[in-house]
Amino acid sequence: MCVFCKIVKGELPAKVVYEDDKVMAFHDINPQAPIHILVIPKKHIPTLNDISEKDKELIGHIFTVIKEIAKEAGIDQSGYRVLVNCNRDGGQEVFHLHFHLLGGKPLGPMVCS
Ligand code: 5GP
Ligand code: ZN
Repeated sequence: MCVFCKIVKGELPAKVVYEDDKVMAFHDINPQAPIHILVIPKKHIPTLNDISEKDKELIGHIFTVIKEIAKEAGIDQSGYRVLVNCNRDGGQEVFHLHFHLLGGKPLGPMVCS
């Protein structure tokens, strides 16, 4: 089972900020910004490539959750970035689809180093 599935099942601890029947959000263990939250579907979807037509509602729901978390964290007006890494060149390390929500400081331009 992947690490994020273990978090969903409560087998690994996480600082959870949001949960419903389909989605979970928790603080990244290695934050890259003052606010760095991961928003994930509870069901195991390995990568963005694996999103299917039947997941359209779920993905839309994830974005409504993201903007509510951003508001709750007080960064909706200052601004934030939402990021998805896919596969090797995208730098994906955990193969359970997740959306990085980053903010709390000026993030600068997008960097591809
Ligand atoms: P990726 O590179 O796959 O897009 O990002 C994976 C993210 O998951 C990284 O930012 C990493 O710090 C985070 N991460 C990896 N393992 C854990 C964990 O066990 N708990 C939490 N909260 N975050 C994790
Ligand atoms: Zn998983």
